[in-house]
Amino acid sequence: FLDIHAVSKRYGTTQALNAVSLSIAKGSRTAIVGPSGSGKSTLLRLIAGFETPDAGTITLDDQLQADADFLIPAHKRGIGLVSQDGALFPHLSIADNIGFGIERGAPDREKRIANLADMVELDAVMLARRPHQLSGGQQQRVALARALARQPRLMLLDEPFSALDTGLRETMRKAVSRLLAQAGITTILVTHDQTEAMSFADQLAVLRDGAVVQVGAPRALYERPVDRETALFLGDAV
Ligand code: ATP
Ligand code: MG
Repeated sequence: FLDIHAVSKRYGTTQALNAVSLSIAKGSRTAIVGPSGSGKSTLLRLIAGFETPDAGTITLDDQLQADADFLIPAHKRGIGLVSQDGALFPHLSIADNIGFGIERGAPDREKRIANLADMVELDAVMLARRPHQLSGGQQQRVALARALARQPRLMLLDEPFSALDTGLRETMRKAVSRLLAQAGITTILVTHDQTEAMSFADQLAVLRDGAVVQVGAPRALYERPVDRETALFLGDAV
């Protein structure tokens, strides 16, 4: 479904990604874990189409999305990205942020926005507000709802639950998992939380210094971690 082949990306002297290859099956859930600066967000931005690879290819549904000289722009890929910082449109109301991908004249627009807000447990009174009037965790949930509204074929989640407290994180993770599964949306989740990675994913990829050091079923990685760092990361998950 999604095929990332030998993708490299450099910023100045920083080699953010170094010949990364990764295959994602349709309908699967992949978690990407790795230390800060290992290239996780860079990889998601490349998949989404916000950056061009220096080398390698990204293919989605047998269609080339990008290589060093070719790029299908982000808005034409049918990919949802919830970035680490949420990045809402500051001048739009919460309702219009959520409904950004829903046609203006669509008869059921209001209802769909209300449903989406409900899904991410956002109180209806928030809909009239602007992003700066919401807490960080509330903004994250708006970003999630906005991405879900467009019914993407591939959903990229960059630590979407990081600003939520433990209880809400658990609730949201379950709700979002259920939603994505129901809609059959292939998902890639970046997380620092080993429990989240283990419980969410059917495929786990470990990134270090811009390279994939291990990929496989969470259980297999837990039982046979490639190195000490991976063992320590997965160790307290079970
Ligand atoms: P974190 O867990 O902290 O979010 P990450 O794994 O998402 O880290 P990236 O954001 O992908 O890491 O960054 C990988 C490397 O590339 C880092 O060294 C970072 O400083 C560098 N980098 C990322 N984006 C840029 C940019 N736009 N310009 C310059 N350097 C960048
Ligand atoms: Mg990141």
